[in-house]
Amino acid sequence: MTRVRFAPSPTGDLHVGGLRTALYNYLYARKTGGVFVLRIEDTDRERHVSGATDSLIEMLGICGLTPDEGPGIGGDYGPYIQSERLDIYHEAAQQLIDSGNAYPCFCSQERLDQVRKEQQARGETAGYDRKCRALDKSEALKRMESEPYVIRLAVPLEGEIKHYDLVWGEVDFPLADVDDQVLMKSDGFPTYHLANVVDDASMEITHVIRGEEWLISVPKHLLLYRFLGIKPPKFAHLPLILNQDRQKLSKREGAGSVAGWLERGILPQALINYIAFLGWNPGDDREIFNLKELTDAFQLKRVNRSGSVFDPTKLGWIANEHFKRAGTAEIALLAKPFLKDTEFGALADDSLVQLIGSVQKSLHRLDELPEKLKPFSAHYPPPDEDARQWLASDGAKTVIPAILDKWKSLDEPDADALLVVVNEAGKAVGVKGKDLWMPLRVAMTGMTAGPELRVILAHLGYKEAINRLSKM
Ligand code: GLU
Repeated sequence: MTRVRFAPSPTGDLHVGGLRTALYNYLYARKTGGVFVLRIEDTDRERHVSGATDSLIEMLGICGLTPDEGPGIGGDYGPYIQSERLDIYHEAAQQLIDSGNAYPCFCSQERLDQVRKEQQARGETAGYDRKCRALDKSEALKRMESEPYVIRLAVPLEGEIKHYDLVWGEVDFPLADVDDQVLMKSDGFPTYHLANVVDDASMEITHVIRGEEWLISVPKHLLLYRFLGIKPPKFAHLPLILNQDRQKLSKREGAGSVAGWLERGILPQALINYIAFLGWNPGDDREIFNLKELTDAFQLKRVNRSGSVFDPTKLGWIANEHFKRAGTAEIALLAKPFLKDTEFGALADDSLVQLIGSVQKSLHRLDELPEKLKPFSAHYPPPDEDARQWLASDGAKTVIPAILDKWKSLDEPDADALLVVVNEAGKAVGVKGKDLWMPLRVAMTGMTAGPELRVILAHLGYKEAINRLSKM
């Protein structure tokens, strides 16, 4: 049975890169009938941000990527938060020391800094000079009782690690380039490398699907599997996500924040659809997918290696396609928080659905709604330059009184009835098309563009429509 995991560190907001990793893991699990695990990698106590775990879980839920196992969900392989699993890492570290594949290091930070400085001055790659690896084992064990220490991986000095990656194919790593990685820190917390490998093994993860930035860690991880006597999982490293300048999209860039996009009212299904394409494509020209369709189409072997540029314009296009497909009642519900401080916040549900239905096809984000709904405002806005020109046109001067006459002769008409006589008025004075409709639109809304007049008239009501027309 396939078991995959998303293993974020709670160091801040969920980033689009993290969401993509979660998505591909989710899709792979669903596709293969496997299990999608969420594991929180919180062993870096300095970078830990409180509340980040809850917000990660919330974002995954909003996007429909609910894990099968994880914190607050349960499962047979818990706990799923690394800081609650420290005993397991200590046991593994002890096993590595006992087998001679790890050793305690007592070097002070000052010494390590000094070593690095000297290496840099000589133009060498910086790395631990393995001083403590040479210590006599019994002496080292004795010093562990009284001195602070870290535990380091004893990387073989020669040879290479052969790796087959599901995305990158064969990648070999000469061991001479691999540093004696710290596995256990002096605060008693494991580093990412030890905890990650121990957990992937004990949670029986079959496929590690994660960002390209971890490819470089593979030799360390494969050595750990070897030394712990465990068969490694398969690995797939996903290509970088780049910004418009083709640099890695950093956590600090606003475009990378998942919460940021959701707060602006991109539909979660649209964000997921767009993000799915950052490193994968279905091999045909389909571009619009919901989560179920993505699950059907997804194949790990179609993940590409080259970095993908995060393009907000393309995201906007996909987002618009999702608005066109979504149910209006659903959008109206999601729209409420975006309208609560506007005059539309107090509208009854069915009126809101009417208005939203008339602008839905043009939306990219829900935060566009206050602007898009302006033509429905109860307060007639001062007409802009274009609008004033239409009102001043000769056509308007004949057509507006003609319409007003017809409207006044009606008895409590609905919007359709109002529109029928607009056509009649046009015929009577010999004005049609834009010359007929634009002055009316401007008279009703103060604007030259906007939703269908029928919906606008229905919203304004007969009295207000007459009122606005009389003032022209
Ligand atoms: N905790 C790591 C991260 O936040 C996980 C890397 C991995 O999936 O192995 O990216």
